[in-house]
Amino acid sequence: MKDLTMDKIVNLCKQYGFVFPGSEIYDGFANTWDFGPVGVELKNNIKKAWWKRFVQEDMNTYGVDAAILMNPRVWEASGHVQSFSDPKMDCKKCKQRFRADNLIEEYSNGAVAAEAMSNEEMEKYINDNHIVCPSCGGFDWTPIKQFKLMFETSRGTVEGEKDAVYLRPETCQGEYVNFLNVQRTTRSKLPFAIAQIGKSFRNEITPGNFLFRTIEFEQMELQKFCHEKDSMSFYNDYKKRALDFVKDLGLSEDKLRYHDHDKLAHYAKAACDIQYKFPIGWEELNGIHHRGTWDLSRHGEFSGKKMEYQDPETNEKYIPNVIEYSIGADRLTLAILCEAYEEEKLENDTREVMHFHPALAPYKVAVLPLVKKYHKEKAEEIFKLFSKNFMTTYDETGSIGKRYRRQDVIGTPYCVTIDDDTMNNGTVTIRNRDDMSQITLPVNEAAEYIKQKIEF
Ligand code: ATP
Repeated sequence: MKDLTMDKIVNLCKQYGFVFPGSEIYDGFANTWDFGPVGVELKNNIKKAWWKRFVQEDMNTYGVDAAILMNPRVWEASGHVQSFSDPKMDCKKCKQRFRADNLIEEYSNGAVAAEAMSNEEMEKYINDNHIVCPSCGGFDWTPIKQFKLMFETSRGTVEGEKDAVYLRPETCQGEYVNFLNVQRTTRSKLPFAIAQIGKSFRNEITPGNFLFRTIEFEQMELQKFCHEKDSMSFYNDYKKRALDFVKDLGLSEDKLRYHDHDKLAHYAKAACDIQYKFPIGWEELNGIHHRGTWDLSRHGEFSGKKMEYQDPETNEKYIPNVIEYSIGADRLTLAILCEAYEEEKLENDTREVMHFHPALAPYKVAVLPLVKKYHKEKAEEIFKLFSKNFMTTYDETGSIGKRYRRQDVIGTPYCVTIDDDTMNNGTVTIRNRDDMSQITLPVNEAAEYIKQKIEF
């Protein structure tokens, strides 16, 4: 298959109802996207799979759903108010804005770690290498300035009296501020983890590349709280579990790699990304960070509450270390879309097919009456039966071949055809999306058959 381009995926997503441009009837709103009928199912299934793997199946992990708007002191303690910014440069010719570190990384094909450079070093590198504007080809840059990434809004009860409030730029602070609450109510001993899935907002300088970098996105994050002596082993454990998770969802091994960070925040002990080979190249899919005691210490300092844990056996009192694992639900959805797509050559035809893991597929089954006139009523009955168990779609228009193709491109793993055999002896034909093979089963066994195939 030819190399997949981002444009191809964007168009396909729009055509089949995965993702539409945000506020499209008003000519859109740059870098916002709306998930459509099949896209919302796909993304929900990805979030469900993550929650199942990391919360449901982990005896020591608990979920929270914290408020998006938090006390502004949270963002002072976390350091975001002072320093959550990126180095920006404007092209004086075409007025486009870019991240200086991204320009260098793209120019050097990832060989130069710009994240480790100061603004002066970056400016020198860009000048020495004559890096031109990717948009207009000009070479007339403004000096590098830091650009604040937090969206600010205000809250005021009385006209004129307003306080600055921030839209959270990451979900993890909701986990840190609830450390004591969760520990107390679950009566947990360390180590344990708090997980959350929710929206975050960043005023990114160079958003773009479809769902890869947007100004509003969802994160799936967890923080493991532990004793320092166990922390490196949990860090390595989450590196492995994070990779296994995306492989199990269907991302291929040769498109995944670890990227250990050269430059660490002053409090961090280790940091690593898992990168995926998107159509735009190798890019971060998720991060695993060893954050030491930084977050809880800072919240202790700013809130005046003791963010400590006392070991009931040794009586040792300490501030726990934190291992963070964070992955964007939208970015992962994009990776899954890219990986699943195939333009498959058949004997006399080609078909577009999304080979989603059945657990992620928007619809698990499509119910198709062979001849509407004769089989519609029975098919509707079977739709009712299936839809109590899993997402089911129904299609009675066009030839059966066309209907199969429509399901292939939205990734429905099974098509169930209702025909004369269903009417006469209660059997249905189940067609498999990937190899297009067919089997015949009694109706009452079909739901169970499909249920087993869609587990994650
Ligand atoms: P990047 O270097 O790509 O800006 P980051 O290192 O700032 O990402 P983190 O703060 O570690 O990212 O966020 C954790 C995860 O959240 C990322 O690995 C990514 O999957 C997702 N994410 C972060 N920013 C965005 C964004 N603007 N749009 C979509 N997903 C995002």
